[in-house]
Amino acid sequence: TDSDAADEAVRTTCDDATTCKRFATSQGYWKDLHIHYFVRNVGERKAPEINRGYYARVKGVNLLLDEFIKKTECKCQIINLGAGLDTMFWRLKDENLLPQKLFEVDFPAVVAKKIHNIKTKPPLSKPIIDMHSTDSLLLDAHNLDSDRYCIVGADLRDISSLDEKLKKFHLNPELPTLLLSECVLVYMTPSQSSNLVHWAAETFHTAMFINYEQKDRFLTTGWDHADALDMMTVYSMLPQQDVARIELLEFLDERELLQQLLQHYCICWASKDKLSLGKRTLVL
Ligand code: SAM
Repeated sequence: TDSDAADEAVRTTCDDATTCKRFATSQGYWKDLHIHYFVRNVGERKAPEINRGYYARVKGVNLLLDEFIKKTECKCQIINLGAGLDTMFWRLKDENLLPQKLFEVDFPAVVAKKIHNIKTKPPLSKPIIDMHSTDSLLLDAHNLDSDRYCIVGADLRDISSLDEKLKKFHLNPELPTLLLSECVLVYMTPSQSSNLVHWAAETFHTAMFINYEQKDRFLTTGWDHADALDMMTVYSMLPQQDVARIELLEFLDERELLQQLLQHYCICWASKDKLSLGKRTLVL
């Protein structure tokens, strides 16, 4: 049907994101020691402004993410909505920043591909097994559940089934929770993304929601505090020594192009802070 074809087109956006990250990391924009297990080939060259855009997004989101984890001393959960082939689990493990549990949700077809790679590549599976205390680790085509890492195949537009699946895998509504959606809500109708954001506000009393997208898509239903920074501002707030390093990697003759691109996007975050973690101070 038309809607199946539309969903398939949305699923392929995950491959676009991964190939762009694969290329940018191959050029040295940032390090990702696991992405090549998901996309073997470096692929076609991408324009320098695209690489810098991904650099700003990855670094900006990681700064907020890492600060939340440090502030909660890893006694928290992360839920990555529409995670695609994100390699966050392995980075956080390597950097000793693994939360109590990381949940990732994506369409079952995308999850199946991710799980297949994990199953067949020991550098991906070993860290998961190492962090797991018992012999029984749930691993089927569309779900992975271990002590610290859970991948769930679900449609984010179907809230009741999403809620049910996450609870089945021991989501803990009492833990400080960071929700992340990077380029995901834009593929839903405003009422669908609003339902998702509202579900998050209802489910957790202490939480932060990070969303990378166009500003007007972010809905603050039920959240105490919300803020946004456009990506040009984020770029100017990143550690400038590293920015200077990546600006030497490739020649960009039209800086205006980069500015235009970055100004179109933003990182938004919303928070609820019953436990008074002071996440309002979480500014880059
Ligand atoms: N967040 C990842 C990143 O930044 O690399 C992937 C971004 S990709 C542009 C969008 C992802 O959202 C895809 O993996 C897609 O399958 C997922 N997605 C979009 N709509 C979804 C839905 N209704 N249910 C589950 N996943 C969805």
